[in-house]
Amino acid sequence: MSEEKSVEEYRLNADEELRFEVEANASVQMELLEGMAEVFGSELTKGKVYNFDQGSKVAVFTWHGCLIKLQGRTEVAYVAKETPMVMYINTHAALEQMREKAESDNTRGPRVMVVGPTDVGKSTLTRLLCNYAARLGRAPLFVDLDVGQGQVSIPGTIGSVVVERPADVEEGFHLNAPLVFHYGHTAPSTNPQLYKLIVSRMAEVTNLKCEKQRKVSISGVVINTGGWIKGGGYDSLKHAAGSFEVDVIIVLDQERLYNELKRDMPEFVKVILLPKSGGVVERNQHQRSDARDSRIREYFYGVKINGKDSFFPHPMDIPFSSVKLYKIGAPALPDACLPLGMKSQDNKLKLVPIRPGINILHHVFSVSSAASVEDNVIESNTLGHVVISGLDTEKETFNILSPSQNPLPNDILLILDLQFMDIEI
Ligand code: ADP
Repeated sequence: MSEEKSVEEYRLNADEELRFEVEANASVQMELLEGMAEVFGSELTKGKVYNFDQGSKVAVFTWHGCLIKLQGRTEVAYVAKETPMVMYINTHAALEQMREKAESDNTRGPRVMVVGPTDVGKSTLTRLLCNYAARLGRAPLFVDLDVGQGQVSIPGTIGSVVVERPADVEEGFHLNAPLVFHYGHTAPSTNPQLYKLIVSRMAEVTNLKCEKQRKVSISGVVINTGGWIKGGGYDSLKHAAGSFEVDVIIVLDQERLYNELKRDMPEFVKVILLPKSGGVVERNQHQRSDARDSRIREYFYGVKINGKDSFFPHPMDIPFSSVKLYKIGAPALPDACLPLGMKSQDNKLKLVPIRPGINILHHVFSVSSAASVEDNVIESNTLGHVVISGLDTEKETFNILSPSQNPLPNDILLILDLQFMDIEI
């Protein structure tokens, strides 16, 4: 590539932050030249060059001062003096005290849920809290209930992973044995009943994990949520808080939500209001959808390093008969049309078979871990994802794209509302 690369150096004083965004079709290389600094709680190594791809929005914060070099095309790059980082680290310190208490009293560590409208930095704050805990040798469980973006797996799923070391500055959390549940849509409002069911299931499995692993139990749970906070959204937040038996709820940037939760949560739940960072970038519907696409691409191709994909998906042909395709939730019918004793809401949790046809082309599917359809498919975790990228009705074969060259680990596939076209971006 012959793109012209500008080089800029930024000197930051203590408690300042360098914020930058990478231009479309460009990348930016960043290097810490002097001092110490961190990106969303992950420390930078001096002299190492970090690469950020198009669209990345990054904040480099320093507690003691530093010199940073940026090379490449940034959309914006500026040093901010005002940040909420002191408040965020104080919150971390309070959580750490709760962990110490759990250790000495032989109880469990803090379970904290971060809530707020879209684009207030919820994901960023959960990453920061997990990173700070991991830097102290803790191993908190990070739970992502945001089906709109999906940091643990892809959008349309919820996931959890134990954070044993701080997130990689470029690639995010090390996804060692994540636990993922299929939802299928990018908004909890599409099927609130299913959403609540898998959130409860995730909470159950979290409890089992904490029973088995004392270190995780003491370190606690950090939960990220989506930006749906009104009406049914508020209801689903209360449901998540109850299922996970959270002790702390951090509300970012919304006094109204803070007051509602203070009113409705039991006494023992500490509800805290924290400001959002001025650096958090608001995204429109279009950008959010682009972010989802790149998250799915990342699932199959890995994070781009120096403009190159880190791995490749495997195309393969499989017979129609080797898999069973389902959708969760049938369209609602009036109660009068339903068999006796069945309510229309039961439909929302129904497994509906899908016939092979062009309407499923390019759709992403979750590979279920359920042993059979009689097994509890909805509450079974997901083993991975594939895309049906083509089909031949004469030969009765699907062409699928899989992250692994091995045969599919199971034959029950659940459709997501999301499509993925394998084109270079
Ligand atoms: P939410 O989870 O509330 O939707 P995010 O945490 O995903 O919000 O933040 C939205 C975007 O803003 C992300 O791309 C993130 O990298 C960016 N961002 C967060 N904090 C900062 C900051 N201090 N400076 C610059 N960009 C930031």
